[in-house]
Amino acid sequence: MKRILVTFIAVVAMISGVYFFLHGRTSTMQTNNNKLHIVTTNSILEDMVQNVGKDRIELYSIVKRGTDPHEYEPQPTDVSAAADADIIFHNGLNLETGGNGWFNKLVETSHKEFDKEVFSASENVKAKHLTTNRDEEDPHAWLDLSNGIKYVQLITQVMKEKDPQNAQFYQKNSDKYIAKLDKLHKTAQSRFIDIPQSKRLLVTSEGAFKYFSSAYHVTPAYIWEINTESQGTPEQMEEVLSKINQSEVKSLFVESSVSPKSMNKVSKETGLKIHSKLFTDSLAQSGSTGDTYYSMMKWNIDKIHEGLSK
Ligand SMILES: [Zn+2]
Repeated sequence: MKRILVTFIAVVAMISGVYFFLHGRTSTMQTNNNKLHIVTTNSILEDMVQNVGKDRIELYSIVKRGTDPHEYEPQPTDVSAAADADIIFHNGLNLETGGNGWFNKLVETSHKEFDKEVFSASENVKAKHLTTNRDEEDPHAWLDLSNGIKYVQLITQVMKEKDPQNAQFYQKNSDKYIAKLDKLHKTAQSRFIDIPQSKRLLVTSEGAFKYFSSAYHVTPAYIWEINTESQGTPEQMEEVLSKINQSEVKSLFVESSVSPKSMNKVSKETGLKIHSKLFTDSLAQSGSTGDTYYSMMKWNIDKIHEGLSK
């Protein structure tokens, strides 16, 4: 009898343990499910969304840090995250739709619609076009902080509409974040004028600095114009070398998300040093300098100023 009672108590304890375990888990999952599920195509947008939504959102970013967002092959986890998303933010301006057009395919596979769940962060930006192909827009608008601010404003507006309960929270975070970005933008606008014009040539691998250059008064030079085209051809090399030779610049730069091979060749040909890496299409890995949009922009501005001052 005693034995039966002990077994009975053990079984009851086990069942209630399982019940509380499952119940506890279910309620956590339900809480998580109430949060806005947001997917971004790259780490720069990821950081902007994180600054606005903080701990009240579930965030997934597709193209991993240190890799090129122009060309990408979506993974099964990307497709399921996109299918599950309330909002998907992409850069637009052909960043994800040029080259292999990976993003359009992802939107289709995950059964999402543009302007319903899918939004372009660059919607309110005045686009610049490629020099080599006037029909195509240049995607790198975020490298001008005043455009980055427009991205954050659009992101905030969409998040508020999709989740009105947290609208005030999002707006407050957004205002604070924008004020910080705007301060850096204003300093950068007059930062480079102490450098002689003949030295103010910003040489990078990809021509990602059109928006940056016109906002902060430097002249961009590059080996290839955009990462989707052939890179480092003899004609491209000849053109960048001639631009460098006509200037008095002493430093070269290379982006963190491209191979340094071609820039090493330019360095060898000109005898100029690669002064620093720059962040263009991706943030740095979490925990290192350049791991947020603000710190990548600050790094770029500081390093470019330092290199061009030589
Ligand atoms: Zn790029």
